[in-house]
Amino acid sequence: MAYKTILVAYDKSEQANRALVAAREFVEVGLADKIVALTAFDPREIGESTFAVTARMAGFEVEDTHPRPDEELFAEVKDAVDAALGDFASEVEIVVQHGVPQGLVLKYAHDHGCDLIVMGSRGLGAIQGLLGSVSQAVLQHADIPVLIIK
Ligand code: ATP
Ligand code: MG
Repeated sequence: MAYKTILVAYDKSEQANRALVAAREFVEVGLADKIVALTAFDPREIGESTFAVTARMAGFEVEDTHPRPDEELFAEVKDAVDAALGDFASEVEIVVQHGVPQGLVLKYAHDHGCDLIVMGSRGLGAIQGLLGSVSQAVLQHADIPVLIIK
């Protein structure tokens, strides 16, 4: 097998959906074993209080103040993966984590021995350009192949 585990960095954007479809093709033609879709929820984007975020950044332990439960975030990602992949979605492992996307993608790939990262060139952000900040950072720092889907 060319690739054991493909990590798809998934933010529910159109390009991330295309990244999922590309990863599915790798599996379908026998080039890869399995797919993990990782979605990072930046606490700053899901309504955590500014106080909690700032305190944590300053190194204090603060209680988890996430207003939206993990189950809800997971269900939201699962629905999007289902819509993008249809029946094949059941073969994709979905992982939801809290933190900065680029760091979590790189760490997950490293910790779990992923051997290919597939992601979109852009995501949900509005600013135009070749690469978003997440794809730019992952491409720059990954020590495994990164496939960027336009
Ligand atoms: P920016 O976020 O810098 O304003 P953008 O949203 O257009 O710009 P990125 O966020 O870099 O661009 O998105 C590029 C790709 O990175 C996405 O298609 C997706 O594959 C991945 N990605 C982005 N955000 C996340 C996230 N929160 N969790 C997992 N993967 C993500
Ligand atoms: Mg983005």
